[in-house]
Amino acid sequence: MVYFDSHCHLNDEQMLVNIDEQIALLRQAGLTAALCIGYDLASSKRAVELANIYPEIYAAVGIHPDNAAECSKEAIEELRKLAQDPNVIAIGEIGLDYYWHKDPEERAAQKPVFVSQIKLADELGLPISVHARDAVEDTYRILKENNPKFGGVLHCYSGSVEMMREFLKLGLYFGFDGPITYKNAVTPKQCVRECPADRLLVETDSPYLSPTPFRGKPNNPKNIPYIVAEMARIRECDEALMNEQLWKNFKKMFRVKQ
Ligand SMILES: [Zn+2]
Repeated sequence: MVYFDSHCHLNDEQMLVNIDEQIALLRQAGLTAALCIGYDLASSKRAVELANIYPEIYAAVGIHPDNAAECSKEAIEELRKLAQDPNVIAIGEIGLDYYWHKDPEERAAQKPVFVSQIKLADELGLPISVHARDAVEDTYRILKENNPKFGGVLHCYSGSVEMMREFLKLGLYFGFDGPITYKNAVTPKQCVRECPADRLLVETDSPYLSPTPFRGKPNNPKNIPYIVAEMARIRECDEALMNEQLWKNFKKMFRVKQ
């Protein structure tokens, strides 16, 4: 089976310390592609560097809402330059985080940062990887007004099935991670079941969100098969067929020819 990870942070300090081992692990697990996602300028640069070293690594460059204060005009220009690298296949992760940011001013400041990066993606002809935590409604409003021309994925989707139906109308994809393997994850499981097959993506968000049976331990893209297996179980379909569909979706969404 051809496995891939559509959202991971091999550029995170935690994974970089023994990056060759991390890469060896994902290769042993049969992964042939992993999209390494930036969350600020430095990590975006590292994602591009990794993509130029390891053939299976692709990069996304972007500024996470946690780092919205970093997003100056110069930073956008820097991202534009980084995105010239052929290994860059998306702008991300970008979006809104109201879980860690309760202050209304901080929340308000995330919005223009999100919008300017959607516009950058449109200019560059790239899809976006969206982080939306406790901010599903505002994320929807922004994406409706600024519908990304080259599509996008709601990474680690944590909204309701009803909101998913609204996002579907905008042509978006949905990424699911380790939490769908947790017993108490009722809504994410429901979303996996209800999502049209051609809009599903699988991801680890490593080093975070390890699936069962590794919950609480550092995550690695090698754990993708556990998430695919759970998706197949939830949707009552064959695991190999499930995986084939996910791979097809990944290639379509990110225009990967592999
Ligand atoms: Zn992430």
